Amino acid sequence: MPFIIAEPCIGVKDKSCVEVCPVNCIYEGDDQFYIHPDECIDCQACEAACPVQAIFPDNGVPDKWKTFTEKNRAHFEK
Ligand code: SF4
Repeated sequence: MPFIIAEPCIGVKDKSCVEVCPVNCIYEGDDQFYIHPDECIDCQACEAACPVQAIFPDNGVPDKWKTFTEKNRAHFEK
C-alpha cells in the first residue's frame, strides 16, 4: 500500500492528484479521494501535486492520521 490520502482531502477533493497519476489509481469517494493500494506504482507524483498536502507514503503518514491507511484500503474492499 504505497501512498495514502489523509484528512486534509476531506471537504477539498481538489483532484490535482487524479490528473497527475500515471496509472489512474486514484478514485473518488463520498468525502475524499482514495488510492488503490494494489494499483499504485509508488511514483510520488500525487504527493507533490496535492495543494493541501494530504498524501503520504504509507510509512510516512502522521500519527494523527494513521487511521486513514485502513480507511483507504477499506474503500476498495466494499
Ligand atoms: Fe498514482 Fe503515483 Fe500517487 Fe501512486 S504515487 S497514487 S501511482 S500518482
